[in-house]
Amino acid sequence: MQALRYTRVTTPEAAIEALRTAGAGARYIAGGTSLYDLMKLGIEHHDHLVDVSGIESLTGIDTDGDSLHFGGMALMADVAAHPVVRDDYPVLAESLTTAASQQLRNMATVGGNLLQRTRCMYFRNGADGTYPCNKRAPGSGCAALGGRDRGQAVLGTSDACTAVSPGDWPVALLALDASIDLLGPDGIRTVPIADLYHLPGATPDFEFNLVPGEIITAITVPKTAARGSTYHKIRDRASYAFALASAAVVLEMDGDIMRRPRVALGGVGTIPWHAPETEAMLDGQPLTRARALAAGQAAFARARPGRQNAFKLTLGAEVIADAVMIAAHRAAQ
Ligand SMILES: Cc1cc2nc3c(=O)[nH]c(=O)nc-3n(C[C@H](O)[C@H](O)[C@H](O)COP(=O)(O)OP(=O)(O)OC[C@H]3O[C@@H](n4cnc5c(N)ncnc54)[C@H](O)[C@@H]3O)c2cc1C
Ligand code: SF4
Repeated sequence: MQALRYTRVTTPEAAIEALRTAGAGARYIAGGTSLYDLMKLGIEHHDHLVDVSGIESLTGIDTDGDSLHFGGMALMADVAAHPVVRDDYPVLAESLTTAASQQLRNMATVGGNLLQRTRCMYFRNGADGTYPCNKRAPGSGCAALGGRDRGQAVLGTSDACTAVSPGDWPVALLALDASIDLLGPDGIRTVPIADLYHLPGATPDFEFNLVPGEIITAITVPKTAARGSTYHKIRDRASYAFALASAAVVLEMDGDIMRRPRVALGGVGTIPWHAPETEAMLDGQPLTRARALAAGQAAFARARPGRQNAFKLTLGAEVIADAVMIAAHRAAQ
C-alpha cells in the first residue's frame, strides 16, 4: 500500500504554501471525481494531496452588473442551478447539466472541470504497460494512431497524440470569452480561457499552461447578450457520457440577420475548439439552416480524421447547424 498524506486548507494562500512545502509529489484536489480515478488507474502518482474544496471564499457565484464570477471551488451543480446562469446564460447551464451525472456534479468543481484529463481509452487503460501513450509516458508512442480511434479528435491533432479534450464547460466558456484567475507563488494573473490549453504537438504530456503551484481561484464571464445561446451535445447515451461532438453557440438576431456569433466545439478537438471560420460565415447573414450547415462544415476544413472517426466531420457540422438554429430562435424571443 502506498502512503498518502492529506492536508485540508481553508484559504488560497494556505493552499499554495502547503503545496510548496509538500514538494514535487503533491497535488491539489477539489471534488476528487477525476483525480482519484487517475490515481486508482495508476496514471498519476501523488504522495500528498492538498484539499482545496474547503476554501469557502472560492465557492461563491457573484453576478455584478458587468460580469459573472464563479469561484474556482464552486460546485458544477450550484452553478448550473443559479437563476442568472439558468435564465440568461443557457449555454453555460446546458454545458453543465449535460456533463457527467447529478451525483458527480454535486461533488465536482468548476475549476476541477477545466483541468480534467482526456478519456482516451489507451491513456486510461494502459498504465500497466498494455498500451504506449505519449501523454501518460512521454516518448513511449501512441496506441491510438492506427488503433481504435472512433472517439478521438479530428482537429488540433499531431503525430504524437489525437486525444480529445473532454470537458463541456470549457467549451461554453470559450464561446463567452471567459477568463481565468490563477493565484500562484508569484502572485495572481488572469488568462483568457483559450490560453489555458496547450495543443499536443510533440509534447502531449504538457496539457495546461499553468505555472507549478498555481490554483484556479475564479472564472469570469463578461456580461453579454447570451440569452441567444445553447450548448448542443451529441453522445452515445442520453446522459452520463462525454461528447462525440458538441457546439456552444452565442449570437444576437437583428431581424433575420445573425450578429456577433461566437462558436466553440467540444468532442472533436484536442483542446476546446474555437471556430472563427464558422463565425465569419454567419456574421451579418440571414438565418437559414443551409447557411448554418455550410458554416458548420467550414469548421472542419482542416480536420484530420483517422480510420473510424471521419463521421465526426458530418456529425460536427450538423451539431453546429442545430445549435445555430436553437440559439437564433432564443435570441429572437
Ligand atoms: C463517470 C464520469 C462521467 C463524466 N462525464 C463528464 C462529461 O460528460 N462532461 C464533462 O465535462 N465532465 C465529465 N466528467 C468529469 C467531471 O466533470 C470531472 O471529474 C470534474 O469536473 C472534476 O472536478 P473535481 O472538482 O472533482 O476535480 P478533481 O478531480 O479534484 O481535480 C481534477 C484536476 O484538477 C486539479 N484541480 C482541481 N481544482 C483545482 C483548482 N482550483 N486549481 C488548480 N488545480 C485544480 C487537480 O489537481 C486535478 O489535477 C465525468 C466524470 C466521471 C467520473
Ligand atoms: S491519443 Fe494521446 S492520450 Fe491517447 S494513446 Fe495516443 S498519446 Fe496517449
